[in-house]
Order: sequence, then C-alpha cells, then structure tokens
Amino acid sequence: MGSDPRPDRPSPKTGRHRTIIEPFKIKVVEPLALRTPEQRALNLKRAGYNLFLVPAGEVTFDFLTDSGTTAMSAAQWGAMMVADESYAGSQSFERFERVVRAVTGFQHVIPTHQGRAAERLLFSVLLQPGMKVPSNNHFDTTRANIEQLGAEAVDLVIAEGRDPADLHPFKGNIDLARLERFCSENRGRIPLGMLTITNNTGGGQPVSLANVRGAAEVYRRHGIPFLLDACRFAENSYFVKLREPGRSLSSAREIALETFAQADGCLMSAKKDGLSNIGGFIALREDRWLDRLRSQLILTEGFPTYGGLAARDLEALAVGLEEVLDERYLEYRLATARYMAEGMNRLGIPTVQPPGGHAVYIDVKAFLPHIPPHEFPGQALVCELYRREGVRSCEIGSAMFGKFTAGKFIPAAMELVRLAFPRRSYTQSHFDYVLEGLASLADERTSIRGMRLSYEPPYLRHFTARFEPLGPAESTP
Ligand SMILES: *Cc1c(COP(=O)(O)O)cnc(C)c1O
Repeated sequence: MGSDPRPDRPSPKTGRHRTIIEPFKIKVVEPLALRTPEQRALNLKRAGYNLFLVPAGEVTFDFLTDSGTTAMSAAQWGAMMVADESYAGSQSFERFERVVRAVTGFQHVIPTHQGRAAERLLFSVLLQPGMKVPSNNHFDTTRANIEQLGAEAVDLVIAEGRDPADLHPFKGNIDLARLERFCSENRGRIPLGMLTITNNTGGGQPVSLANVRGAAEVYRRHGIPFLLDACRFAENSYFVKLREPGRSLSSAREIALETFAQADGCLMSAKKDGLSNIGGFIALREDRWLDRLRSQLILTEGFPTYGGLAARDLEALAVGLEEVLDERYLEYRLATARYMAEGMNRLGIPTVQPPGGHAVYIDVKAFLPHIPPHEFPGQALVCELYRREGVRSCEIGSAMFGKFTAGKFIPAAMELVRLAFPRRSYTQSHFDYVLEGLASLADERTSIRGMRLSYEPPYLRHFTARFEPLGPAESTP
C-alpha cells in the first residue's frame, strides 16, 4: 500500500521503501467471481435490492464484514491437523489456554463458539432487570444481550467520536467525566463496566491506553468490575503505538498486555483479531464468577475445554492470537483501511475521518445529497457499488435504523455505507481495481436514484427487507 507519510507513520524503518506490502505470500487460492454489470443487475433484482440476499458466489469483493472472513495461515491449517478432539481435557484446549493467558495476562479462560455467546453467558450471570452497563459504544449484539435481560446498555463515547469529520486520534475514547458522573448517580446498579477496543460501532476507532487507564480508575473507585470487549485488541494496540505519545518504542504485544492489565477480564469475538473463522472466549483475572459461568457453559455451549468449538478451532485460535500481534501484519492491516479511505477521498468520496482499523465508512449524506433520507441513499449506493464493481458493502443508515412513526419517516442520524475488510484476503491490486471503478461512480453520482421499501419484516429490517429502485420521474430532486 503506497501511503503518504501522515498521520500514522510506523516506528523508524531502515528500508528505502514507501510501499507497505502484504507481509505474506499465498499458498492456497480461491477464484474470484467475475460477473458483468448486467448479470449483477439481474442478481440485485432477484434479491430485492438487499445485498444480504445476494449469494456470496455472485460477489467479487466481499466487504460486508471483517468477522470470520480471515484467510488463515499455513501454520493455522497445520495446527488444525494435529488437534486433539478429546471431549474432556483436550491438549488443544491447554494450548489455547496457554496462549490466551500469555497474551491477556488473565488466568481463567472460557471458550465459546463466538463473541455473542460469551456476552450472553457473562450477562446472564451478572445482570438483573433495571441494571445499567456503561461503555464507549456497545456493539449491536452486546446491547441486545444486555437489553434482553431487562438491563440498559449506555454509550458514553467522547463527543469527538460522534462527529464524522473530527480528526481526534482516539475517537473511541470514553468520556471520563460523564463516566464518573454516571457511576456516582447509579451506585449499586452497575454490575460491570465495559470498553470496546477498537470501537466498532463508532467506526473502528481506537481507544488510547491513557483512556483505558482512566476508565479503569473510575470503575475501581466505584467498586465496579471492568471488562474489555477486546475483539480488535491487536489493531487497537498498534494504533496506540502509532498515535499515543511515548508509545512508539513499545511492541504491540506489550501494549496489549498493558491494556488488559487495566481490566478484570475481557470478552472476545475471535472471528476478528483471533484471525479465525469462528470462536470466542471470556477471560478473567479472578475466579469469583467461574463456577456459575462454567455450569451455564455446559448447559448451552459445551464442556469447559471446548465450549462449542472443535479442538481444531482452538488450535487455529492459539496460532492466530500470536500471529495477530506481528507488527508487520498490523502495519499492513491498518494501511489497508487508510489506503482505501485516502483513495476514495482523492476521488471526492467523503469518508468518516480518520479511517478506523477494519473498515471505511462512506458519508453518503455528503456524497449523494440529491437523495433524501426517506429514499434510502445508503441502500442506493450499496446497490450501485455491487452493480458496477461487484463490491458487497453494508448500509448503516435509514435502511437499517430509519423508523416510520404515525405515518412519518424518522431517518437515521447518519447515512453511512461500510466497507469492512477481511484480514489477509485481498491484495493491493484488488483495492486498486475497486478504486478505479469508484472513479467513474464518483463522476456519475448524480445519476444514482433513491429506493423505496417494498417489503418490511417486523424485526431487524436490514437482513430481509426488499427494495425497488425509484424511476427518474418518481424521485424528488
Ligand atoms: C463482532 C463483535 C461482537 C460479537 O461477536 P460475534 O462473534 O459476531 O458473535 C461483539 N463486540 C464487538 C465489538 C464485535 O465487533
């Protein structure tokens, strides 16, 4: 990835190169689905203009999510072959546990099949109706698992984190003054406090180590256990190395350990920085909730030495959790989102600033101002990205969050389209190819039309809703 020297320069390098290369070569390949725009137009029509309903085999560049879409390494595949699939006391679990302990410093490790299972398990043990759980921003499944139990998920991200144009280096930080006030005002009603690193809902924005430390002090002062939602702990650690004063000489691994050292435990979806296709865990410093967690685990996930995973998954995770802290990998990883964001900005496509770790968010309100929110500008862009380029992206705007109340449409606060990048899966020429296509899309943006909703399911509209493009005469200019 060629990249200009600001704002994230890695620690001094001795080489003569500006290009940040993929720090791997490729041993196993799979074909890219290459289709014509006409074929894709037909696919869109068949799928009701909902990209969740387009078969993956018809997608060329799948940027729907970075979750579980990692390309695994030869070392991971090798480890899977020697996995010990014993029901109890598997050696693969011992290996996984050793690595989680070494990377996080937490002694007690409970495997789960993915992140939300860890959430459901922990919250079912700790939460009662009426309780509150603060964080910078809760991820959707985290919020849903908290609210499902009658408790409240409260977002306290800093104001800069809510402004798409603000260039704050740590837009994932929690507002410490508000957190302090919140903890004082809700004494006895906060069974745990959280912090999401990086802040996925806020655009994959990092949290500074100083802020993690600050949050830990507030929680400690109020006697509240502090759990990290650590899905992207390695990406967060590398952002700290690049951006936080005085941290450039620490390794990502040291920064990760220091981050975890502030907390009492963590929840993890290993489908992100576990560099695996499935998996998750809870890791805790103390054993106080352990018995209850393990009996719940046996009820729904499985025995405590596999927790809903095959031993081969545990092996892949044990290797992935080490590989993800390789700084050549992290340098390349953060360069990907930065490269795509800078490339789009050069074409006049505005994105949320600064780019986060795992994704680029297009500010659709600014890019397609001629389409009003009730005509779903983000959904229109998602469809155009697919029709023209074979790119699958995700609308995060009025198609996902807009509401009809008493016949009136209440739009979402922001109209965003997210391109999330699978780890180690696409190369720079893929990204360059996409950017070339985006140039003509940017030129012809005014020809893009809005959409109308033709079928709306009762829950979670974005997964199964259907749309229709508006004809030129129908849309309001
Ligand atoms: C993905 C994610 C989760 C949920 O994990 P799953 O493995 O998808 O169940 C929780 N929190 C954050 C921040 C995430 O990104």
